Amino acid sequence: MTKRTALVTGANRGIGFEIARQLACQGFNVLAGVRSEQKALAAGAAFKKLGVDVATVIVDVADADRLPVVLAELERRYSAIDVLINNAAILIDGPGGFGASLFDMTDDVFRRTWETNVLGPAITMRTIIPGMMARGYGRVVNMSSLAGQLSGMRSGFPAYRVSKAALNALTRIAAAEAEARGDVKVNACSPGWVRTDMGGREAPRSPAKGAETAVWLAMLPADGPTGGFFQDKEPIGW
Ligand code: NDP
Repeated sequence: MTKRTALVTGANRGIGFEIARQLACQGFNVLAGVRSEQKALAAGAAFKKLGVDVATVIVDVADADRLPVVLAELERRYSAIDVLINNAAILIDGPGGFGASLFDMTDDVFRRTWETNVLGPAITMRTIIPGMMARGYGRVVNMSSLAGQLSGMRSGFPAYRVSKAALNALTRIAAAEAEARGDVKVNACSPGWVRTDMGGREAPRSPAKGAETAVWLAMLPADGPTGGFFQDKEPIGW
């Protein structure tokens, strides 16, 4: 069987790096999306050091104007994308100069969070899923968060929480629109609380553990679920 090609956004560090590594170990052609040439060199060296074959590609998901062109060029240069992992995200409300409360949130924080965490994945799905439907196969995984669960919504981190709730909504919409258009599945997952730059040092989970459910969703069989939200390979509430 020919190898499937997977694009992982935000793959130069953290959970995205680990998803790319695990998919490469599972035999995928992996395109690891990074934001700059410099990050491509560093990530390329890190993958090589681990002995995994991963191609680093420049994909800035916040560059809405160029994103469709960049993705089309990737599919021309490498191969059609069979698996899309929307992993890249920012968390900029909270410590680091911005307020964690809705009452401190600035328009700039809300806009930038929306552009990266919602508009970026909306564009990648809008650009890549039609090709998956035409070819009759595709797996899309949106890296969401318990912070976006409406059933458990609470105070703090408003821009980030709203962005993940919106990503969950996009997951349901894309799954419904792709359903019955071939074996194309769109799911969201939460990695749990993971030790990365975003999760911090106190987090109990390793990036490898945080990547597991996304990798499982990327490899679902034809009778697997679509339009769901998962953590630890189990369905969780919206
Ligand atoms: P990190 O902050 O450690 O890494 C984020 C990655 O996204 C980096 O590679 C970063 O690249 C990339 N990125 C940010 N903006 C862009 C952009 N515009 N274009 C392309 N890449 C971009 O986060 P984690 O690894 O912890 O998180 C990965 C995913 O998991 C995110 O979606 C996050 O919301 C989610 N998540 C994480 C949790 C945790 O506990 N860690 C908990 C719940 C969900 P660069 O190096 O260039 O900044």
